[in-house]
Amino acid sequence: MKRDIRSRLISRDPKIAFTSGQWMTERPGGSDISQTETVATLQSPNSSSGSPATGAPYKLDGFKWFSSATDSEVSVALARTGPLSQGSRGLSLFLVPLRLPLLPTPSPNSISNGILVHRLKNKFGTQALPTAELSLNDTTAYLLSPLNKGVRTIAPVLNITRVHSAVGGVGGLSRAFAIARSYATVRTVNDSASKSNVLLKNVPLHISTLAKIGVTYQALAHFTFGIVALLGKSECEVASKEEEQRVRLLTPVMKGFVSDRGVAAIEECMGCLGGQGYMEENVIARIIRDVSVERIWEGTLSVMALDLIRASKGKLGIQPLIDWANIIISSTPFKLISSGNLSNAIDSLKSALTTIHQIFTTQAVVSPFIPRPFLFLVGHLAASIFLLEHATWAFNTGLSTAGYAREAQVFKRWTEDGLELLRLDVVKASKIADLKGRHRDDLEIIYGNKGDVTAKL
Ligand SMILES: Cc1cc2nc3c(=O)[nH]c(=O)nc-3n(C[C@H](O)[C@H](O)[C@H](O)COP(=O)(O)OP(=O)(O)OC[C@H]3O[C@@H](n4cnc5c(N)ncnc54)[C@H](O)[C@@H]3O)c2cc1C
Repeated sequence: MKRDIRSRLISRDPKIAFTSGQWMTERPGGSDISQTETVATLQSPNSSSGSPATGAPYKLDGFKWFSSATDSEVSVALARTGPLSQGSRGLSLFLVPLRLPLLPTPSPNSISNGILVHRLKNKFGTQALPTAELSLNDTTAYLLSPLNKGVRTIAPVLNITRVHSAVGGVGGLSRAFAIARSYATVRTVNDSASKSNVLLKNVPLHISTLAKIGVTYQALAHFTFGIVALLGKSECEVASKEEEQRVRLLTPVMKGFVSDRGVAAIEECMGCLGGQGYMEENVIARIIRDVSVERIWEGTLSVMALDLIRASKGKLGIQPLIDWANIIISSTPFKLISSGNLSNAIDSLKSALTTIHQIFTTQAVVSPFIPRPFLFLVGHLAASIFLLEHATWAFNTGLSTAGYAREAQVFKRWTEDGLELLRLDVVKASKIADLKGRHRDDLEIIYGNKGDVTAKL
């Protein structure tokens, strides 16, 4: 399989290259794959040997509820090799050819591998990508993971796809921001102060909005590519164990935070074009539709927040994040701090770090109201630290005064604009003592009648 399939998956030659889907989500749940119902049956089992080897042929039967890239040659799929009661520990990973024979390259005449597309999803965006509801009926598949270790085997792929989600968010924002920037150089509006028509780029109110989007873009881009660099070290096996833990902690944060803040900033770009922003021909609407999915697939914001809490409870915990932040803060040149007037921003960073540390040293069980505000705090803080590191780099490499002053400004604005509020959100959440009472109150706000409602799906 490695020789015949992997080489095609990494090939750039269109005559032999394969693409692959990734089918995990089923009707009982995408966030929770432990309920996976698709069953894998070993073909010609040999009772004398132990576990089947990688590449062993199986038949799959089940229903995959969200299956993107249905025009690929292959897909990787999770299926049950242990009983349902084993949850995700009874799942293995399989390579599924979409058509047979798989080799040589499948032609349009090759036969479907027992895969029935029930319908293509009617989606809000990502129209270029076919996503199907499909059933697997006696479908030939090959074991890719050790038996019942499917989730662990696919986990590194999730890191990559989460990076792709963040890059998708930053990329969409970059394009929408470019459109909004250009528009301000050609659109004139009436300026009440000068009583004349002026270009939008000369209207301080408008430009301050664009500058805020620009700061957000830089923060999200530095955060994302900071994690890309760390992931690169990890893949090349040169990362220290502290860096590995930072990848573990910050990958779900980056995915959740960047996609969330990215979409909000793209919506702001739409507003910067007025009515033209809402028109299909100006593309921002499509960018919003396409990028919105980054908030959902590969794990929703709440699922990322729970993953951060899980990672924070691991052996090295949150400490590698705190140590890294402190090293960058303490290596900021004094001249940069004073010329950029960065003291307040740096104090906010220190307070945020203290709160993050306290949450994990004082709370044995993390309250259910903490994960989401905690993800936003860690996300904003991590982006701040990457921006500060960049400003220091600009200063130390002798960029012109204007050059490093600009980077320092971006760090200062991003940090002062929101970090302290996010810290207070976490403090507030950590002070909710009556968890059941709060949940009751929440239900009352949403449904009234003490939340006493029943419905049928
Ligand atoms: C366009 C598109 C393409 C997709 N393509 C694929 C694909 O190719 N392969 C694939 O496998 N999947 C694919 N998916 C599925 C996607 O990964 C799932 O939709 C996603 O993981 C969420 O799962 P769900 O839809 O079951 O939502 P649910 O898990 O039902 O979530 C509903 C809500 O509950 C919240 N929630 C869930 N669990 C918890 C919890 N424990 N605590 C608190 N809140 C919780 C979620 O945050 C969410 O707000 C695709 C989805 C879309 C939209």
